[in-house]
Amino acid sequence: MSETIFTKIINKEIPAEVLYEDELALAFNDISPQAPIHFLVIPKKPIATVNDLEPDDKALLGHLYWVAAHIAKEKGFAEQGYRAVMNCNEDGGQTVYHIHLHVLAGKPLGWPPYQEKLKSI
Ligand code: 5GP
Repeated sequence: MSETIFTKIINKEIPAEVLYEDELALAFNDISPQAPIHFLVIPKKPIATVNDLEPDDKALLGHLYWVAAHIAKEKGFAEQGYRAVMNCNEDGGQTVYHIHLHVLAGKPLGWPPYQEKLKSI
């Protein structure tokens, strides 16, 4: 797959507010937060979309969720709650083609997320 902005963040070629890093994953604040707390957890391995996951990536995906929960506990919002989602392709709203877990917290989050759109149809 072609290189994305997230590869540059992993390689420290462009700055990011890093919250967590290990040999498999990196977590950093989203540049355009959609909630009081909004960070991304990404694998260091470049995988374009959820559709491109291989059987060998299953543990890696679990690790990304573990990182999200670890940060949530460390920052003290785990009990209050949060949303951890991955967007896939155009209809999913994906803009960066290197899979990433959005972690949103710090306020009650609406559900379902498409409610506003449906109301305006
Ligand atoms: P997507 O739309 O692909 O699900 O999410 C991509 C996310 O990456 C967006 O929330 C966007 O704000 C964030 N993003 C895009 N470019 C950068 C960047 O250079 N730095 C950081 N920290 N976040 C970025």
